Amino acid sequence: MSKVVKFGGSSLASAEQFKKVGNIIRADKERKYVVPSAPGKRFKEDTKVTDMLYDCYRLAEEGKDFHEDLKAIRERYDEIIEGLGLKLDLGAEFDVIAKNFQEKAGSNYAASRGEYLNGIVMAKYLGYEFIDAATVIFFDEEGNFDADKTNGILSERLSKCKNAVVPGFYGAMPDGSVKTFSRGGSDVTGSIVAKAVKADVYENWTDVSGFLIADPRIIKNPESIETITYRELRELSYMGATVLHEDAIFPVRQEGIPINIRNTNAPEDSGTWIVGSTCQKSKYVITGIAGKKGFCAINIEKDMMNSEIGFGRKVLQAFEENEISFEHVPSGIDTMTVFVHQDEFMHKEQKVVAGIHRLANPDSIDIEADLALIAVVGRGMKSARGTAGRIFSALAHSKINVKMIDQGSSELNIIIGVANADFEDAIKAIYDIFVMTKL
Ligand code: ASP
Repeated sequence: MSKVVKFGGSSLASAEQFKKVGNIIRADKERKYVVPSAPGKRFKEDTKVTDMLYDCYRLAEEGKDFHEDLKAIRERYDEIIEGLGLKLDLGAEFDVIAKNFQEKAGSNYAASRGEYLNGIVMAKYLGYEFIDAATVIFFDEEGNFDADKTNGILSERLSKCKNAVVPGFYGAMPDGSVKTFSRGGSDVTGSIVAKAVKADVYENWTDVSGFLIADPRIIKNPESIETITYRELRELSYMGATVLHEDAIFPVRQEGIPINIRNTNAPEDSGTWIVGSTCQKSKYVITGIAGKKGFCAINIEKDMMNSEIGFGRKVLQAFEENEISFEHVPSGIDTMTVFVHQDEFMHKEQKVVAGIHRLANPDSIDIEADLALIAVVGRGMKSARGTAGRIFSALAHSKINVKMIDQGSSELNIIIGVANADFEDAIKAIYDIFVMTKL
């Protein structure tokens, strides 16, 4: 049995946090492979080391003196090293970094040093082997992650290690230069390592006790989700719920490795299990609620639209020509509505409207702005009767006008459109009816 454990920046922000991490790893000898992020924020107004590195490198690129800023970064690590009582001097590492900054090694290289250095500290602290991610994680010429090459080399390398630390967030291009994933990319590294060692579980340690049923900024102390499928997670993430980097799902999903989201500050909590499929019923009919504001609805009317073949295609062509992707297209007999992101659509709106007129010749076009979309997601909805009814009676009760309803054919989600101004109240009403009343 082996477990891959990834720790986020807040779990590694200080020596105190490192000690919690050490206790977690030592509590289970199956926790053999560790993927650390760079030190994150120690308190709300603090700056993440990754952001400090980006800022510091910007100075180097502008030809300004960056040494003071680099010193502040070194202090972050030295504070951790001292707090842990380690015999470790990062002086030589910082000399190399300073030289490379001077020679403009690139912002990817700069940002990656946060994880690289933290990996060295972590390996020293645990007595594990350190493996530079640039020697085992690869990108192709186009800068896309090279899964095959990586998996071959990484699994071979790790098969020789009993325990190892592989820093998150970066790898190497074919020419050897460093490239990072997008922000939050250590999650992706953790997943890649889990796949390479065919881990039994990928534990992703963060500062919340799992994936929450709803956004805690809207719902006070929402419950966390015990088990969620990859597909449900994808629906919720797409609608704005964030815990895990989106690309972290693919490597482990292929191998059927579950992800367990855990809380470094409350290791006794079992967290959330993200799995391929499960016979475990979710506690409530719904698994989670997420949503986003800032959509626009373009309502198109034309008499006898229903009998005009190709009308929908012509309307959507106007969006395609302007490179606007649509979210939902509910339709009636003589009406069709296209939901789009307002910020993408705004500066192209008249072009799109003109395009629809030219291509589809409708009777009228009407635009409604400032709408929000809410996704109510749950594998349990398929077998539960009356879910939609309950959602709408809850919304009606809260005097919320529903602008749009769209149930996906998978019966995994129901999307509801409301005015931006009703967004929070709508989520509260839905949470209340399913979770608070425990129906
Ligand atoms: N340190 C990087 C970031 O702040 C990557 C990560 O933490 O996953 O985005």
